[in-house]
Amino acid sequence: MRADMRVLVTGGAGFIGSHIIDGLLERGVEVAAVDDLSSGRRENVSDGAKLYETSICDAEALERIFDDFAPTHVSHQAAQASVKVSTEQPVLDASVNVLGALNVLELCRNKEVDRLVFSSTGGALYGEVAEGKLADEDWPAKPLSPYAVSKASFELYLEAYAKLHGTRSVILRYANVYGPRQDPHGEAGVVAIFAKRIIQDAPLTIYARATAGDDGCVRDYVYVGDVAAANLLALDGELDGTYNVSTGIGTTTRAVLDELAAHAGKQPKVSPSGRRFGDLERSVLSSDRLQTRGWSCSVPFQEGIGTTLRWFQSQG
Ligand code: NAD
Repeated sequence: MRADMRVLVTGGAGFIGSHIIDGLLERGVEVAAVDDLSSGRRENVSDGAKLYETSICDAEALERIFDDFAPTHVSHQAAQASVKVSTEQPVLDASVNVLGALNVLELCRNKEVDRLVFSSTGGALYGEVAEGKLADEDWPAKPLSPYAVSKASFELYLEAYAKLHGTRSVILRYANVYGPRQDPHGEAGVVAIFAKRIIQDAPLTIYARATAGDDGCVRDYVYVGDVAAANLLALDGELDGTYNVSTGIGTTTRAVLDELAAHAGKQPKVSPSGRRFGDLERSVLSSDRLQTRGWSCSVPFQEGIGTTLRWFQSQG
């Protein structure tokens, strides 16, 4: 990576942002986080990175951070990241994911930041992906939640800024990311929720894909280390445009549970449940475009699940 690179990671105290920071620090890059700690945790930010505890919605405070840290690159991970919260509080969702993000983008333009990398969503954006198919980047967007709309909107802002002002950006559309430091307390992140509950010997619920008792919905689970690697490629100038970050492999909720249980050596109690309102039946994305640019999915599901479970066990 460029020796003079200085990367500001918004949402750097969160799950994915903190892994990006670790990857940058390993490469000797100067890095800082801006995070309001609404869902992130101070202890996620490694010692080598400065943490500015500020909301991206506070444009003046954010400008002072840009002046103080003088980033050459911005990794924009901060978001209201819950689909459920977005349906209950769409104004809050848009205020962070659109207006807060615009504060970041305006500063990237005005302070002549070289490149902005934006964490978008594949799962929420593409909608239902039929059996046997993979959604690629040209798959028509069907944003069905305020969260998906806010992410799609900011993608459009990035396109407009590129044309109007020449702002350079890369859009990464993540599939379902899992790994150490994921928050098990929300309603998203089934790997984190199941890992925690298996460790606690608590019962688990599998929401049906179609009918109660089936193996549950199908998702594309990508390990957080591979997502961080895609972000480093993008920051390094190796990518332009929009890329899915995914494995192309569909995994049912039941298969997640079985893999975790096997690593834990336990047989958790499972209650089958009906369909959960708003759940997609199947979401699996093609990462062919990203693979042609040198990225590969280096952590297979079994290995990633084992690492994740051990991390949750180490947290007590
Ligand atoms: P996360 O909640 O762990 O991280 C988001 C971080 O942003 C948190 O640390 C939070 O405190 C911070 N934040 C929220 N509002 C803020 C504000 N107003 N100002 C400053 N900081 C603020 O979630 P994550 O899973 O690490 O998600 C990172 C990014 O990836 C998000 O943009 C999310 O939408 C996107 N994404 C995640 C997934 C996934 O599977 N985890 C999938 C697709 C997209």
